[in-house]
Amino acid sequence: MTEPITRAEAEVFERFHDAVFVRDMEGKIHFWNAASAALYGWPSHSALGANARTLLGCKHERDGHDKADARLLADGYWEGELSRLTGSGCRRLVNVRWSLRRDAAGNPIGILETGYDISSAKQIEQHLKASEYRYRNLFQAMAASFWELDFTAIGPKIRALLDSGVRDLEAYFLTHPHVVRDFMQHTQVVDLNDHSVRLFGRGDRTEMLGTIDRYWPDESIQVYARCVVKSLGGLPNNIEVTRLRTLDGNEFECLFTACFSKENIARGVILIGIIDLSELAEARHALEIMQTELAHVARISILGELSASITHEINQPLTSISTYAQAGLRWLQRPQPDLREVENALLQIIDEAQRTDDVISRIRGMALRRPAQESDVSINDVIQDSLQFTDHELRKHSVRLTTELAASLAPVRADRVLLQQVIVNLVMNAAQAMAMSDSAIRELTVRSVRLPAGDICLEVLDSGPGIAQGLEGKLFESFFTTKATGMGMGLPICRSIVEGAGGQIQLTNRGDGKQGAKVTLTLPALMLAT
Ligand code: ADP
Repeated sequence: MTEPITRAEAEVFERFHDAVFVRDMEGKIHFWNAASAALYGWPSHSALGANARTLLGCKHERDGHDKADARLLADGYWEGELSRLTGSGCRRLVNVRWSLRRDAAGNPIGILETGYDISSAKQIEQHLKASEYRYRNLFQAMAASFWELDFTAIGPKIRALLDSGVRDLEAYFLTHPHVVRDFMQHTQVVDLNDHSVRLFGRGDRTEMLGTIDRYWPDESIQVYARCVVKSLGGLPNNIEVTRLRTLDGNEFECLFTACFSKENIARGVILIGIIDLSELAEARHALEIMQTELAHVARISILGELSASITHEINQPLTSISTYAQAGLRWLQRPQPDLREVENALLQIIDEAQRTDDVISRIRGMALRRPAQESDVSINDVIQDSLQFTDHELRKHSVRLTTELAASLAPVRADRVLLQQVIVNLVMNAAQAMAMSDSAIRELTVRSVRLPAGDICLEVLDSGPGIAQGLEGKLFESFFTTKATGMGMGLPICRSIVEGAGGQIQLTNRGDGKQGAKVTLTLPALMLAT
């Protein structure tokens, strides 16, 4: 054989789906099948006689062609991946097999190459590698705990349950928690990130692999049960706030997310993410303490504003006590002491002392620092208590007070002293607004109304200047004040107290044709058993 390919071989190779071509030892192409034409974009009349390396843009050293040639000569065979240039100028990655053709004397006379395009397969592989890399990175780098769980062992158990006639798995799990425990004992942790080791473990990752039930306190096992139910129902995920346990047995609050992607479920795997909420819970607690403190400081500051009224309220009975005591003495010092008058004076002293005591305990109630205590509160009682605080203040500013209290209101669930603080604040704001305006008429109406749904509405209407245009949105912002010595904390604190009791508060212009402002405060009424 002197030609590198026979006519009979050419006929067979022509029908191959792989690209087949034959070149001599100088690289000249002697055979080029239709699949080569399709892969490389050169028709056979252009390829035949051309130099293969030039035609296919082979770069020697970089492609390792020379090494491949050396191996081919040594072994008679070579296989590998080569980058090839096509007629349209784009590169393709081709998997090629070379076999050396020899003449009768054993001298190499040509090379038969078969090849197929692996560019897209390579791209997919690279894409997969990149996405696996990204996933690994995320898995490791996120400040959340990620776990991969293998649940293949519970598949047959679920099937057995369904075969035994269990229809409502969720209800079944609720009444059979030991079954859920058993499922957990057969669900394995197969992978987890470093954050999980820090959050749940003692530093050793391998110690954490294995069954997951160690991490689940009894109170949280229905979270696992709901994951099973939701994944079977084809839902994409289950997200809940729950409690989990570290290897050392410390329980903590967390946000638990399980993802049931179809691909993972098909592999018998689910991915879960856990975010530690215990720090958040601590921060929330600290915030609550701060709000209580702030409300307390605000109460003290209202008492400060009311100090003139308080002094007056205490001085009045004290003056009376002194007057009655002097009168009593005089009745005693008479040549004929009048004991009935003395008794009368003493009774008056007791009454006045009681009045002083009432005022002091009312103020003490407001001034004491104490955590919020919810109870069932009659809003009308709170209104009346609050108006006692402001009574002198209103009279001082010549404000005419009208109270319209609806009968048979349901109680509300709130802290009595805090509600009192809100009402005193609103009444003081109204009195100050009216005192600042020139208007001769100073009228304040405090009203309680039963809303159609049974909820309770409290309204405070004044005849002051009302709310200037553009300010409505700002009044409840912290530190917003239009007063020279104002703090701007009254209304924000009122709002946090009212919202804490599930209600709402607004401050608007009256909207009844009269000038002035109107506070509307709604509170949900307690449903009373009938
Ligand atoms: P402060 O009383 O220290 O200013 P508040 O938060 O209680 O703080 O009130 C914020 C602002 O809301 C007041 O400065 C005032 O401009 C306005 N405001 C409150 N109540 C009334 C009212 N009844 N009429 C008119 N403006 C009011």
